[in-house]
Amino acid sequence: MFLKDIILKRGNSKLKITYYSNSQKFLYDFQHIIRAFYPNAEINFGSGGDIHFKAQFEGFNVTIKAQEPGKELAARNFLLTEDEHESKRIFGKNLYDILKALTNKELPWGILTGIRPTKIAYPLVKANMPVEEASKYLQREYYISKKKSLLLLEVAKNEIEVLKRVDSFAACLYIGIPICPTKCLYCSFSCHELNKKIESLLDLYTQALLTELERTYKLIEKNENKIVAIYFGGGSPAVLGVGNVKRIFESLLANLNKEDIREITFEAGRPDTINESLLELLALYKKDFNMRLCINPQTSNDRTLQIIGRNHSFEDIKRAFELAREYGFENINSDVILGLPNEKEEDFQKTIYDVLSLNPASITVHTLSIKRASVLRFKWQDYWFMDEGTVNNLLDWTKSILSEEGYIPYYMYRQKNMIGNFENVGYSKRGFEGLYNVMIMQEKHNIYACGAKAVSKFIFENDRIERVFNPADIQLYISRILNI
Ligand code: SF4
Repeated sequence: MFLKDIILKRGNSKLKITYYSNSQKFLYDFQHIIRAFYPNAEINFGSGGDIHFKAQFEGFNVTIKAQEPGKELAARNFLLTEDEHESKRIFGKNLYDILKALTNKELPWGILTGIRPTKIAYPLVKANMPVEEASKYLQREYYISKKKSLLLLEVAKNEIEVLKRVDSFAACLYIGIPICPTKCLYCSFSCHELNKKIESLLDLYTQALLTELERTYKLIEKNENKIVAIYFGGGSPAVLGVGNVKRIFESLLANLNKEDIREITFEAGRPDTINESLLELLALYKKDFNMRLCINPQTSNDRTLQIIGRNHSFEDIKRAFELAREYGFENINSDVILGLPNEKEEDFQKTIYDVLSLNPASITVHTLSIKRASVLRFKWQDYWFMDEGTVNNLLDWTKSILSEEGYIPYYMYRQKNMIGNFENVGYSKRGFEGLYNVMIMQEKHNIYACGAKAVSKFIFENDRIERVFNPADIQLYISRILNI
């Protein structure tokens, strides 16, 4: 059951919806758009149910029908084109029209189902189309709401500005440490909890990372790439211990061209992994590099922190900020999540004000997504959640409050199973935009990724993308890399 299903399920009997297509074409969009209109329904591929949607492809000719037992509710017949992207849009719009007529509902993101919505706005911004005209185009061609279209155009413009800082040889390096002291309720199972067994593997894991990095340096050189942004993430990298973090930094500095590196992000993440010796070490590198530190409260509500499985309070976050400032860190990012279990509108608003009082350089506003492999996915009945309308209003409210405080939206992505199908937006003060975040969204630069669960991304001609996946399991990763 998805969060958006849960939210509207209360008090409703569950509608059974089926969909069928005689082609694999746009099957994901078919299911995704139906699900967005019927968040509380049980939706399956096949036939039967209370409402059945059927797509029939015959060459370029397509018919979509909506039926209930013994009755046709709506139908559309239309033609696709040779262009795949254009055809996908035509299919989405026709399906949307049927669903809108049946439900009397509109979706803020219209027919967009992908995780990188800014991609459709880049050509409009690059062509200098006036904002009003571009917004109308997005509303007309993708059924995006006016507010979301304006946000999209603003983010795309800021992303393009950030990317002017790098050339086509620029690439990123991701170092993944998918281990955390405790597991958050909404986290995917592929992040490991720091138990005795994992603790005993930390040195070996570091050894495997260093070995994979050695291979990666050769590949970077062969591809004539320049690493401009390095990101330590995955969980809480500091769990490796200061000695191991130092070994990784030494390896990076001995093998990469220091002049190319514009940014190093260290996801310190949770205050229970931030201490003086870690900050002392990172401060050494801060002298030569633009170090971004992430200290992520997610919420300032201690009750919620307990619910989501964090072993700390918001006071601990404040102390971590103070300590980081003492060591000279100015470029600090803070993640917050909108829609956490049992949180009300005022809880989230308080979180925004509390985080602003810490004056971070950037704030990333996530909307809760319930990952398929999270504990929350199986325990959702124990909590209640904000409704979609409140979430949407709070997203608008957050944007206006952060704009007043001088933060600009500079990157954006959407995830599966997000509350209300909304968005995650990274805000920053100008000049503090995370380069890595923008590069990973734009998919024009290679991303070299090392560590368990890491995914490398290589970009070829005509924007063809190849992904290389590392095993998610720590032990499997170690044995693959070290051949033991
Ligand atoms: S801090 Fe992030 S990676 Fe770690 S358990 Fe929580 S959600 Fe997962």
